[in-house]
Amino acid sequence: MLEADFVIIGSGSAGSAMAYRLSEDGKHSVIVIEFGGSDIGPLIQMPSALSIPLNMSLYDWGFASEPEPHLGGRVLATPRGKVIGGSSSINGMVYVRGHARDFDHWAEQGAAGWGFADVLPYFKRMEDSNGGENGWRGHGGPLTVQRGSRTNPLYGAFVEAGRQAGFEVTDDYNGAKQEGFGPMEQTIRGGRRWSAASAYLRPALRRKNVSLIKGFARRVIIENQRAIGVEIEARKRIQVIKARREVIVAASSINSPKILMLSGIGPAEHLREHGIQVVADRPGVGRNLQDHMELYIQQESTQPITLNSVLNPFSKAMIGAQWLFFKSGLGATNHFEAAAFVRSRAGVDYPDIQYHFIPAAVRYDGKAAAKAHGFQAHVGPMRSKSRGSVTLSSPDPKSKPVIRFNYMSHPDDWTEFRHCIRLTREIFGQSAFDPYRGKEISPGSHVQSDDDLDAFIRDHAESAYHPCGTCRIGRADDPMSVVDPECCVIGVEGLRVADSSIFPRVTNGNLNAPSIMTGEKAADHILGRTPLAPSNQEPWVNPRWQVSDR
Ligand SMILES: Cc1cc2nc3c(=O)[nH]c(=O)nc-3n(C[C@H](O)[C@H](O)[C@H](O)COP(=O)(O)OP(=O)(O)OC[C@H]3O[C@@H](n4cnc5c(N)ncnc54)[C@H](O)[C@@H]3O)c2cc1C
Repeated sequence: MLEADFVIIGSGSAGSAMAYRLSEDGKHSVIVIEFGGSDIGPLIQMPSALSIPLNMSLYDWGFASEPEPHLGGRVLATPRGKVIGGSSSINGMVYVRGHARDFDHWAEQGAAGWGFADVLPYFKRMEDSNGGENGWRGHGGPLTVQRGSRTNPLYGAFVEAGRQAGFEVTDDYNGAKQEGFGPMEQTIRGGRRWSAASAYLRPALRRKNVSLIKGFARRVIIENQRAIGVEIEARKRIQVIKARREVIVAASSINSPKILMLSGIGPAEHLREHGIQVVADRPGVGRNLQDHMELYIQQESTQPITLNSVLNPFSKAMIGAQWLFFKSGLGATNHFEAAAFVRSRAGVDYPDIQYHFIPAAVRYDGKAAAKAHGFQAHVGPMRSKSRGSVTLSSPDPKSKPVIRFNYMSHPDDWTEFRHCIRLTREIFGQSAFDPYRGKEISPGSHVQSDDDLDAFIRDHAESAYHPCGTCRIGRADDPMSVVDPECCVIGVEGLRVADSSIFPRVTNGNLNAPSIMTGEKAADHILGRTPLAPSNQEPWVNPRWQVSDR
């Protein structure tokens, strides 16, 4: 079948959710085009193996930033999933909806109908939540969300330390109250990664009206300003997949703007430089690129209770065997089981710093572990004002795009990151950590002055892998908008973009949940359904926000 009502490019977080919802009533046919292959096997399915697939060219597109001028010319890896489930199949499985104010800000920026009241019903529809605040969470939806067992005492010490430092505690940061220290949530079910492929794509493919085509989408074919299909390369042949109703691009914040530009939609001058005929001059395509950055703050543990003792090949084999046979044990968690969302200073009305805590001292990508027992916080500011871009390097669809984040290009980034380091030291310095605290591994207690902290940040800040914003949603009369609030590409008929590229601004947390929510909500727009009724639930706001950071 090379023709369907709806043709979706990309089976990632948003694409899979759309495949599921668009085919649900059986009235429409759906083709999903995906370049990546199978997600079967322990490297993707076993949660604790999370640092492996992001380093593998089989599962990752292998993108990298340009040398970053504010980070001493460092080139940062920009992993994106190239496998069914997309980035949800190689991500860290942390589940965060985002703060209510993030979505209100989207609406204020022109994304009418995407305020918190509008998106909350979609978060509920998608979830099958285990634990969490009554009345705020979804049950029976495709996406299973759970909490870790938190058996390691260091998780409790982290939350208690936050409380001792005077911060809020929250039992459900995905409920009314994001602010505070508490348990972290995971997209894991029965000990296995619960990606968008498991939650949405596989169930959708069981329906007769959905099919998956393995191929590389080269461009959208547009005739008389209307998208009529997608040109793909599959088994070394160029073919066309026709869309009777619509083409929906859900190829990620890096590949979606690239595909639009190759199809003639983007900044006219840039397209002409590459000899591409301009279909719609949309200067916002590829702009507004943003991300979260984070640092790993590591402390030695005086007690041999951390995961550093199981990073050797023998322990890993034992953990792997237990997982293979029973889907339990240390292989069945991502180890992110405690978290915090806090405000950096008085006057900030909702959290702008996120913490992930793990009872191990190891880089996220698994490339370096501390020699001693240790624990660490991943910490970073949530609302950097730095912006970058995705542009074409060539008109050849196979060429990688040029990715320039301009990380740390705004002076506030430096103030915020210095504060993150000092705040983490304050948390780790609380009495809850007295039984465990050894010396600081990283940055190291000698790193104290602003200049020294800046040097550490320049050398060590890493992407948290949340690029977004490159096909921004907004008002149709805003020249920098790429899609309107129903996700329609402005200036072209029959074409939408719905994935993390449409976010006007990065949300407060990890991006899988808002990307899936985007797919869920876009599906209703595509089908012309009345959106779910807005919620009247009010999020918690710290009554002391004007006078205190805690
Ligand atoms: C290493 C890593 C760790 C992360 N950790 C977390 C975490 O713990 N929690 C969290 O919430 N978020 C995390 N994220 C972020 C989150 O997973 C992503 O933001 C989210 O999955 C993006 O969804 P998307 O639908 O925009 O794109 P994707 O899920 O990336 O989907 C895009 C899909 O399109 C396909 N595609 C692209 N171009 C083409 C083409 N030309 N032809 C055919 N197919 C194509 C891709 O192969 C992919 O399957 C992480 C991301 C990474 C990479």
